[in-house]
Amino acid sequence: MLVWKHENASKDYIEFFSMKIAILSQNSSLYSTKRLKEAGEKRGHDMKVVDHLRCYMNITSHRPSIMYQGKPLENFEAVIPRIGASHTFYGTAVVRQFEMMGVFTANESQAISRSRDKLRCLQILAREGIGLPVTGFIHSTQDIEGAIGIVGGAPLVIKLLEGTQGIGVVLAETHQAAKSVIEAFRGLDANILVQEFIKEAKGADLRCFVVNDKVIASMKRQGAPGEFRSNIHRGGKAEKIKLTPEERSTAVRAAKSMGLKIAGVDLLRANHGPVVMEVNSSPGLEGIEAATGVDVAGKIIEFLEKKAGSSAPRDRIPY
Ligand code: ADP
Repeated sequence: MLVWKHENASKDYIEFFSMKIAILSQNSSLYSTKRLKEAGEKRGHDMKVVDHLRCYMNITSHRPSIMYQGKPLENFEAVIPRIGASHTFYGTAVVRQFEMMGVFTANESQAISRSRDKLRCLQILAREGIGLPVTGFIHSTQDIEGAIGIVGGAPLVIKLLEGTQGIGVVLAETHQAAKSVIEAFRGLDANILVQEFIKEAKGADLRCFVVNDKVIASMKRQGAPGEFRSNIHRGGKAEKIKLTPEERSTAVRAAKSMGLKIAGVDLLRANHGPVVMEVNSSPGLEGIEAATGVDVAGKIIEFLEKKAGSSAPRDRIPY
């Protein structure tokens, strides 16, 4: 790490660090990847985009290393994982290898794994007493009535455990529809959650972007007319929004409970307060920067400047 002092600079800028930072991303032309690279370079850092699927690892006791395009990846001070949902297993193994090498990672491998598993995520949030929609998990179709009973009957939401971008999220308006959809999914051996429908959210959710235990930007996403899912991929529209203190603290607690330093926490406004839908470990920057005008990429780099190089123990959450 390069350090030099500006003699005449204000106290806040006494030290300037130029770091070598890897962005783990499969595609260097993605908006989020480009913005992180640009924000890091603007602040004087050496930014490299590394495709984690092209990394291969040498797992030895004394000198664990990562090879990339035939050469070892060396002298990195920090990594920013941007791991897609379809490659969590390999992606988190690469992040873990960086951790073994003592490299600071913006999100730790275990925190990414925790949040990627929707069920595990909800169980941890519940344990922390964070607001959630009432949720049931079911294996046998003999228990359908019981699961519907847990969430208070129809209308209810059925979700594929593996779904993303709103695909596999179904609103069943009647008891009979709920039964048929659950039977169909289970017939295909798909794992599903059954969830209380938060009707009063009116097709909108709140995306809270958390960096280092603070919400740095927030937007409201409203689903297309007649659509209860607010996903932008499903035609939803985003606008900047001011959160209530309760929403803010719920988002921060949710990210913390996963052990994520960078997280996109999705909340619904329920009658009984904010409820968490999901905690995303590689939240996109495009929608939130466009809706709020906040330099989210810059805030992430600032966070790395504060934390990288510190010898804080890794992965302290015991589950
Ligand atoms: P994905 O991870 O595929 O985006 P989500 O669980 O976040 O799936 O659901 C997608 C969207 O559907 C949410 O952003 C929200 O707008 C809507 N939604 C999901 N679950 C509920 C629910 N229980 N009540 C009301 N709306 C919901």
